[in-house]
Amino acid sequence: MTPVADALKHVNWEDIRLSIPATTPQAVQRALATSTPGMSDFMALISPAAEAFLEPMAQKAHQLTRRYFGNAMSMFVPLYLSNLCANECSYCGFTMSNRIKRKTLDAEEIEQEALAIKQMGFRHILIVTGEHETKVGMTYFKKALAILRRHFDYIMMEVQPLSCAEYLSLRKAGVSGVLVYQETYHRRCYAQYHLRGTKKDFDWRLETADRLGQAGIQKIGVGALLGLADWRTDSTFAALHAALIQKHYWRSRCSIAFPRLRPCEGSAPPSSVITDKQLVQLICAHRILHPQAELSLSTRESSFFRDNVATLGITSMSAASQTQPGGYSNTETQLSQFDTEDTRSPAQVASALQSRGIEPVWQDWLAGFGG
Ligand code: SF4
Repeated sequence: MTPVADALKHVNWEDIRLSIPATTPQAVQRALATSTPGMSDFMALISPAAEAFLEPMAQKAHQLTRRYFGNAMSMFVPLYLSNLCANECSYCGFTMSNRIKRKTLDAEEIEQEALAIKQMGFRHILIVTGEHETKVGMTYFKKALAILRRHFDYIMMEVQPLSCAEYLSLRKAGVSGVLVYQETYHRRCYAQYHLRGTKKDFDWRLETADRLGQAGIQKIGVGALLGLADWRTDSTFAALHAALIQKHYWRSRCSIAFPRLRPCEGSAPPSSVITDKQLVQLICAHRILHPQAELSLSTRESSFFRDNVATLGITSMSAASQTQPGGYSNTETQLSQFDTEDTRSPAQVASALQSRGIEPVWQDWLAGFGG
């Protein structure tokens, strides 16, 4: 049973793409006024017509965020365990054909990374790997989790899509959240960017949220890589994806991210550019549609941008991210998945948040609680 994916498969990309630019200012005003916004309101709020309403959108997003999340910002850091990958994705530095040094951390190196990250103050981590089923699969994940559980209270993963039974097993091993971004919901465009490997299978990826929900994973992360296809249409699919997850798997929480395509070795330029102002608009629209969802922002964005949107709807942030395996305990840069923009230390990010009245939260979950 894959009710979330089935519903998404029946939505017509072109219908959405063509209807968003036709939005009128009156439709935007209605979307801002309603207390029960739906998908058509979200589409109105990300339309070109809504760009003139950014101020009231920002005010509403700010109020909703404070109402449901107080002044808290949950802090996490990504931990890259491996850059091995058996897929060919033309926008990514880890892509199989890139002739780069490959590295998978062993037990001792994972321990060193954990200690370095703890030293920075983090208690929530996001494990990231390339997608290499045979060398970085369940056996490896379980060994890594056995080490990381001793150091961290909340563990999320961003790895290849797995089966429901594997997610159940990871949940028992201490995983609370899993992020699997669809990259783009446009099937033909997806095929153009994903050239080789299991990631070519659009449907297996799309059905991941159903497997996660059925496995009872506490947090499910969705999103599109903005820049691969029309950003407004992809964002509408991502918003609908989150809404369907909340409807069918209401015991899980949803997390939504808005990564913009960043330069990396050999990457293709974005085919659909979203400006800073439009990204603010998108964040506000997601907050208005999903008042209780986690909205997450990474260090792909600049410090200036992150500081300014922190009060508008973002409730989870990474800081001081290294995107190469071993990057925290060994600062000699070897290979990054993509370039990060905000390179400030955790203390500098925390101080910038506090100056805006936001309290960074390093630990809001105790290991074992609710697991
Ligand atoms: S996006 Fe993921 S699957 Fe694709 S090449 Fe990069 S690491 Fe591998």
